[in-house]
Amino acid sequence: MAGKCHVILIGPQGSGKGTQAARVAPRLRLVHVATGELFRQLMTRDDELAREVRRYYDRGELVPDELTLRVLVDHLERVEREHPGARGALLDGYPRNRAQAEALDRVLGERSDAIAAVVHLVVPRAVLIERLSGRLVCSTCGATYHVHFNPPLVEGRCDRCGAALVQRSDDTPEAIARRLDTYEQQTAPLLDYYRQRGLVVDIDGNQPIDAVTSAILAALEPVLAEPHRCPSS
Ligand SMILES: [Zn+2]
Repeated sequence: MAGKCHVILIGPQGSGKGTQAARVAPRLRLVHVATGELFRQLMTRDDELAREVRRYYDRGELVPDELTLRVLVDHLERVEREHPGARGALLDGYPRNRAQAEALDRVLGERSDAIAAVVHLVVPRAVLIERLSGRLVCSTCGATYHVHFNPPLVEGRCDRCGAALVQRSDDTPEAIARRLDTYEQQTAPLLDYYRQRGLVVDIDGNQPIDAVTSAILAALEPVLAEPHRCPSS
């Protein structure tokens, strides 16, 4: 079996990418595949693939691209078995750079699968920094808050357990700016690669959550209905 069509979702940290992926996937008959979650799931298994990934984790090394791709393909096969009615996957977190995109094209080509569209969530840098730098986390129970968008009832105190709220060390404006720089450096060539093939749909991610969801659905529904873009529709 093959001939599935997949959608890739690209957006920086703080763009609401994960939230939007979870909301739009079922409405588009796509299965949300978040790469981070994929590895957490894999670690609950004890097959050859899981053992191979664990060897890198145990040594504190990064999992090589080639192995990450095998994990993804293994999961796409699983998705196909478990969700026979799905058009394909909504990929969230992969590919992150151009080399990964080229490798993904090779394996999708072997499966006769296609990429129907690449959704690019666009959020101004200043807005991302405001969203990310306002995050607070409870030092005891781990509950998360935001100074503007989701403030606790009592300033600096957790609603659930009353413990002190702190900022994560990687949420300082400097650390956030560094992460956004890295993201932009990796993503610009990735977007160019897909733009040349006419696959990129830019979505304004600086709107209320419902408006972003509606914009993604309005952009993707006609694309997924085109047989040459999405043979499995
Ligand atoms: Zn708490």
